[in-house]
Amino acid sequence: MTDSKNFDVIIIGGSYAGLSAAMALGRSLRNVLIIDSGLPCNRQTPHSHNFLTQDGKTPKEISTLAKEQVEKYETVKFHNGLATGGIKSVSGFEITTDMQDKFTAKKLIVATGLKDLMPAIKGFAECWGISIIHCPYCHGFEFRNQNTGIMANGSKALHLASLVYNLTKEVTILTNGKADFNLEQLEKFNKHHIKIVETGISEIEHENGQLKQVIFNDGDKMNFDAVYAAIPFEQHSDIPLSLGCEITEQGYIKVDSSQKTTIEGVFACGDNSGMMRSVANAVYSGNLAGAMVNGLLSAAAF
Ligand SMILES: Cc1cc2nc3c(=O)[nH]c(=O)nc-3n(C[C@H](O)[C@H](O)[C@H](O)COP(=O)(O)OP(=O)(O)OC[C@H]3O[C@@H](n4cnc5c(N)ncnc54)[C@H](O)[C@@H]3O)c2cc1C
Repeated sequence: MTDSKNFDVIIIGGSYAGLSAAMALGRSLRNVLIIDSGLPCNRQTPHSHNFLTQDGKTPKEISTLAKEQVEKYETVKFHNGLATGGIKSVSGFEITTDMQDKFTAKKLIVATGLKDLMPAIKGFAECWGISIIHCPYCHGFEFRNQNTGIMANGSKALHLASLVYNLTKEVTILTNGKADFNLEQLEKFNKHHIKIVETGISEIEHENGQLKQVIFNDGDKMNFDAVYAAIPFEQHSDIPLSLGCEITEQGYIKVDSSQKTTIEGVFACGDNSGMMRSVANAVYSGNLAGAMVNGLLSAAAF
């Protein structure tokens, strides 16, 4: 931690996006504070994939190495805790934490990620990221050619099915209620022998997160090796909203191509502001946000 309370930049969220922004800023000699509550969205997944040089590592291994590398830049400080409030001040921003610390900075980067909202199905949360997965690019290869369910409905189910069918031909769609497909979509599923089950799901039977069976409300059971699930999410932090940042219809913080939000001086990066949910994208957008903020500070001082 640090004795100083005033920084060039505060980054809320110290996972992949926040650390990446911090590296760009630390290498630019900026005084940076990272406030992080230590709850990245992928913390339960045993192996992270599809990020060059780190394929198959645990999420923790990747973030620990990233933090070690960022910590080498002496102008970057860390504060473990939850940022609970943020206000715009004359000189920038004032951020409050759950322990009532107050920090100020000229610019703010929010790298706070998303909070996935688990459905009220027994066993679902325990399997999340292990055998109930969100993304074919992250985990699809590991479950290739295996018996796979897709827990989704409507166009989301169609999109996922087209990606998953490329990896396995054993695909069943679980709509967990009345199916919502048009004729064209149904024809596609038929053509690929993809079954649709509408019965509500009551339980996911599993062993240490490894799915065994999906149990339906009528008592029927189906075995699967993996299930993809498209579940709702919300912003992890309400600070961007309270500062006035616009949120898109899909629930992301609205940013332009330089990760700038609709509020002057506030940038967002990582999952909270883009649909491409991956470590690679978090690192990319964090790096961009860091560079853009440094560019603004440099221009203002020049
Ligand atoms: C189950 C699962 C498995 C995944 N597997 C893969 C994979 O294999 N490969 C891949 O590339 N991607 C994977 N992803 C996606 C990847 O994990 C995310 O894209 C990535 O973690 C986004 O990084 P981020 O920094 O934006 O957010 P996160 O990693 O979610 O981190 C956000 C950070 O902000 C902190 N935070 C939030 N609010 C506050 C606050 N108010 N104050 C202080 N700190 C705060 C949180 O505690 C957290 O540390 C997976 C996602 C999930 C859900």
